[in-house]
Amino acid sequence: MLNIQGQTTALAHIQRVIRSGRLASTWIFAGPTGVGKFHAALEMAKTCLCDHCVQRTNDDHGQLLNSLLEPEFMLTLPCGVCDSCKAVEFRNHPDLHLVSRNLIRYHDRSGKSKGTTLSIQVIRGEILGDDSPEHRVEPKLYKRSQRGRGKWFIIDDADLMEVPAQNALLKALEEPPPQNYIIMITTSPAELLSTIRSRSQFVQFRELPFSVMVPELRQRGADDTQAKLLARLSGGSLGKAMSFLEATVAAEREDEEKPSAKNAPPDAPAFSHWVQTISSVMDNLFSGRDGGMALAAVIQKSAEQYAKGMLKRDPLASKDRIVRDGVGMMLGFVAAWLDDRLRHATGAAIIAPLPSQARAMDATATQECIAVCRQAEMQADMNAHIGVLLASACTAIENAMHTARAA
Ligand SMILES: [Zn+2]
Repeated sequence: MLNIQGQTTALAHIQRVIRSGRLASTWIFAGPTGVGKFHAALEMAKTCLCDHCVQRTNDDHGQLLNSLLEPEFMLTLPCGVCDSCKAVEFRNHPDLHLVSRNLIRYHDRSGKSKGTTLSIQVIRGEILGDDSPEHRVEPKLYKRSQRGRGKWFIIDDADLMEVPAQNALLKALEEPPPQNYIIMITTSPAELLSTIRSRSQFVQFRELPFSVMVPELRQRGADDTQAKLLARLSGGSLGKAMSFLEATVAAEREDEEKPSAKNAPPDAPAFSHWVQTISSVMDNLFSGRDGGMALAAVIQKSAEQYAKGMLKRDPLASKDRIVRDGVGMMLGFVAAWLDDRLRHATGAAIIAPLPSQARAMDATATQECIAVCRQAEMQADMNAHIGVLLASACTAIENAMHTARAA
């Protein structure tokens, strides 16, 4: 449990509750995507299911492990070697149930559902059971724990639970059977019913700092410059940074499959390529050599390349959803380029700057453009038409830059 870096506050909170022996039956682990929420949930379940938990003081060997806990605080850790710990690691512990939207493949045999939400079929099939004659499923929640240490349900992307699914779950949460624990993992707890939130113990996870992100990314094959840029552009989300890297690897593999590319030098990694392309079109926009539509075209093309790479990893994912994620990511790069200009204007330090020839830009115009990016990111995340929203956002950026130049 201590190997989850950068989440001192969340882990201290969990340790205190485990120590007190008064575990709430329902939990919400909230925070940005890819910062260790799921990993922490798994470790918490592992700790509570372990046959021979290890107790050690927080300052074991004189090294303070969690700066928010007293040195003499007794940490409760999974042993890592018993049958239960091994089973949790292999994700086949009979009392651990991992619930994700992908399970719709098992619960909706019509094959129509793409698993973009967590439907009531999944919640019934995996947790509550279903007594309708056509889909009879036993309720896992009300069955006895097989190894006698309680049962754990971890619901990933819990905010994607449809309202009927949340309502059904709420009924069970009102009178939870003893020794049953549900952890809901979410990036947007506000999407959960207030009645679910009020019944849950809340643990907040935060963005990961550079000091955690950079070494992790270097270990996964990024060079120093790339690791810093990834850390910055992913907003402290290791998961997001990894998906940038993985989309890059998928794109490179595609190049290898092309016979013409056999003897050619490998292409620039997609991630660095996107950052470079967006930066240079922003430079052109800044100097008046390119218009807003050129930026819109580059964002759309890069987002589609990203989606192509990601679909190779998960062919059942929704392409529309991934393109939207990609557009959000590229708009984030545009905002980072703008942020660099603002920092040049105010003399603030720039960590991991984007490659650019441009220097300072008028602060008011820059802030206006950043606001346009943020707004467009939100619209892309909802269901706005991508072409229309990019045309409008990129034209607004072009106009603001034009006004700044004229001034
Ligand atoms: Zn163990």
